[in-house]
Order: sequence, then structure tokens, then C-alpha cells
Amino acid sequence: MKKKTLKKFASVVAISGMLVMLAGCNSSLLNETEVEGAQRPIIIQGPMPIEAEDFAKKLDKVKVEKSGTFVFYKGKLNNYPVIVTKTGKGMENTAAATALAIEKYDPIAIINQGTSGGHDPSLNVFDIVLGEKTTNIGSLKTTNMDENQGIDPTSWIPMDLMASEGSGSDPNANKVRYYEGDKDLLAAANAVKDTYTKGKVVEGIIGSADFWNSEVDRIKWIHEIYGTSVEEMEGASAAQIADAYDVAFLGIRILSNNKTNGGTYNPGTAAANQEYVYEVVKEYISMMKSK
Ligand code: SAH
Repeated sequence: MKKKTLKKFASVVAISGMLVMLAGCNSSLLNETEVEGAQRPIIIQGPMPIEAEDFAKKLDKVKVEKSGTFVFYKGKLNNYPVIVTKTGKGMENTAAATALAIEKYDPIAIINQGTSGGHDPSLNVFDIVLGEKTTNIGSLKTTNMDENQGIDPTSWIPMDLMASEGSGSDPNANKVRYYEGDKDLLAAANAVKDTYTKGKVVEGIIGSADFWNSEVDRIKWIHEIYGTSVEEMEGASAAQIADAYDVAFLGIRILSNNKTNGGTYNPGTAAANQEYVYEVVKEYISMMKSK
């Protein structure tokens, strides 16, 4: 090849290479907008590694994204986008991980799942509670007592932080705030109840706060005031943030312990719950596809 022809050939190769790159770039951008525009992901939250990683392993084509201490496993389930989040334990971690997920990924629905402690003596370790309602059981106002009058926790009053934007002794705030579980998510969860054979699946009230109660009388008091089936440390904070953005939410909690009937802690429950939630998510996806 002569020098001039070689140069021409080289520039044709370079230009076509650029075109191929541009085309590749365009099509992947297009795919992303198509996927994100048409299919809003489902978020599955788990606080501890044992409550998130089993589910993350079940996803296809997983990409891991981190933000602060929060880990997002972005993948596909039956070709639908699902993002498993390891939120970390407790209310603050969960609220932040929920707000981040909503801002970053625009989810269609959020399921907060994991282990819990029983408040209802008729529920055993390995039974699962679907959060028909979820509530913050650590938001309380005390009565007025002076020095040396002691403390009287059973006289404390539930405090609804979302009742008003004001401060002071607003009587409207002296009540429990419940976040309702999303009807479609509950329907999907009930539809696959029979696939779960390690215990029963019931609807109930999930209570959350940054505490672990092992005093049976205190558990009884919370159970009476709030109607709680179980306690854990995350659900209500995810429910509150999901509600703030109007995103469908459901808490799904397996009992890993129940002090009220002698049920001792079993960490194997975390994996069992993820197996069940996997069935719920598949059902929810097929319900959405058939709509
Ligand atoms: N590492 C600490 C705290 C454990 S936090 C300790 O060992 O004491 C336990 C996690 O399990 C939380 O994410 C919470 O949601 C859940 N959990 C299970 N049973 C619970 C119970 N009885 N009370 C509160 N949280 C419980």
C-alpha cells in the first residue's frame, strides 16, 4: 500500500471505529433509559448481612453500588429490576438508606424484611408477620414528675411526630401513628403463603425502635398499647420515609425469638424469611406484568 492510501485507510478505520463507539454508547444509553423509564425497581431491604446477602445472591446480573455504609445490589429477577439493600441495623440507617434508594432509583415498591422478636405469645420462632400496619414504638412522651418522684414507663404516652409541624403539648400528637402495608404487596404475600412450610404466615402489626426488649411485662405493655405482633429495629422508619414519598411499602418479619413463650433466638430464620420474600417478589412482578 502506498503511503497516501495507507493514511486514507487509517483515517477510515479511525472514523468507523469512532462511529462504532458512538453507536455502542448510544444503544447502552437507550437501554438504560428504556429500562429505568418503563420498569421502576422493587427495593428489598435487610439490616444485617445474614438478612440481605442470601436474597442478593438470587438476583441475576448483579452490580454492587455503595453509598456511605449502605450497599445496593442492583440486579434482575425474572428480567425485572430488583435492588437488594443492606441498610445496617436501626432506625437512622434505615431511614437514610430508604431516602437514598428513593432518590437514586425511583422504586415502585419497598419491602423491609428481616428478623424480629415476638410480642404475641401465639406466634412461634419461624412464623412470619406481614405488616398490615407498621409503627414506631419508641416515640413517647413521659408524664410530669418532679425530682425524687422516680420514673413510670407504663404511664408514658405514644407520640405522633407527624401529627403537626409545631412543638409543645399538641393533644393531636398523643396517639400512635400507623403506616398501612400496601394492598397489592399484601395481596402478593398472601397469594404465596402456602409456599412457606417452616411456620405460619399471618397479618399483624410490626413495631420498631432502637431497643431490644427482654422484660416480659414491658413487652406485654407495648403489645397492649400498640397491638404489636413483633418488634424489630427498622420497619417503621422505612415505612415513614416511603410514606413521605408516596411509595408502596410492606414490612415482612420472621420471628427469630419470642421471649413471651420461651422461643430462643435462631439466626437461621433470616434465610427462611428471604426464601419466602423471594416468592412474594416473584408473585408481585407477575401481578404487575398481568395488569
Ligand atoms: N448486636 C446487638 C443488637 C442486635 S440488633 C445485640 O446482639 O444485642 C438485632 C437485629 O435483629 C435488628 O436489626 C432487629 O431488627 C432484629 N431483631 C430481632 N429480634 C429482635 C428483638 N427481639 N428486638 C429488637 N430487634 C430484634
